[in-house]
Amino acid sequence: MSQADEQTDQLTFQDPVTRFPEITPPKQDQPEPGLDRDLEPQTDRGEDSYRGTGRLKGRRALITGADSGIGAAVAIAFGREGADVALNYLPDEEDDAQHVRDVIEASGARAFLFPGDLSDEAFAADLVGHAAEALGGLDAVVNNAGRQIAVEDIADLSDEQWSKTYQTNVHAMFTISKAAAAIMPAGSTIVNSTSVQAYTPSPHLIDYASTKAAINAFSKGLAQQLAPRGIRVNAVAPGPIWTPLQVSDGQPKDALPEFGKSTPLGRAGQPTELAPAYVFLTSPESSYVVGETLSVTGGQPTP
Ligand code: NAD
Ligand code: MG
Repeated sequence: MSQADEQTDQLTFQDPVTRFPEITPPKQDQPEPGLDRDLEPQTDRGEDSYRGTGRLKGRRALITGADSGIGAAVAIAFGREGADVALNYLPDEEDDAQHVRDVIEASGARAFLFPGDLSDEAFAADLVGHAAEALGGLDAVVNNAGRQIAVEDIADLSDEQWSKTYQTNVHAMFTISKAAAAIMPAGSTIVNSTSVQAYTPSPHLIDYASTKAAINAFSKGLAQQLAPRGIRVNAVAPGPIWTPLQVSDGQPKDALPEFGKSTPLGRAGQPTELAPAYVFLTSPESSYVVGETLSVTGGQPTP
């Protein structure tokens, strides 16, 4: 049996508790934004396991935060499903982005790199046009970029951090969605990354968690607005997923070794476990799914 066949077999029938080993990440710190390259242990973004079945054939997708973590897994899956992709990320993340581009190109899809800071409104406004030009059109957007910096006490939460978190997580999503809705044809999709934090906010993540609640409400409202035009808007709410977000001040350092262990599955999720949700919501198979938030939380309840 080839390695690929064995992997498919493992995916056909497997125990979700043991699909990935339970991890106990050592305490570690990276400057923001963190890199997958330097993460310990390394994550699974589907490079060796995700097998496409042509579900996004011919699609042209813009994905933000596509260099690492969940966005990287989504970009790799979209490429394997037959989509061409435009990847946005911060300039400091060039190494991670080039790795993802190489993996996508090895699948036979095209990948275009658009480094830039989404909290810069002018950059965010122009990104959609640049991506559409490179891709020869646009019919899928994944607003996945996000900023999460843990602060224990509201007295230490600066106005600057509050604004930057909202600019990155909420304002950029609005700007990109507005520009995309202006040019995307019927059949197009937008998928936004929200979080379990939208429902059960941690006390040290009040800025971040409230942006995630805003993303949920924005997605459900815009979904109703754009549905008559044949554009579907949905969201994905990840639970605790092992990504560079967590080690670049996303969590208090002491919490890292226990990350994800309190979920019903007893382990943190891997980025590749998120990819099928984004593929499903982007694929025409989900044509009657509109304004939904799909939870991928290892069993952590979301209302
Ligand atoms: P990640 O660090 O790999 O990805 C986040 C990405 O956001 C970065 O790679 C970066 O490219 C991008 N980004 C941040 N600030 C930016 C800016 N100003 N301009 C442009 N890009 C910027 O971490 P991840 O966990 O894969 O995060 C992806 C999404 O998933 C985020 O929206 C995050 O809030 C959400 N999420 C993650 C978890 C989790 O446990 N990891 C849980 C729930 C939701
Ligand atoms: Mg990154």
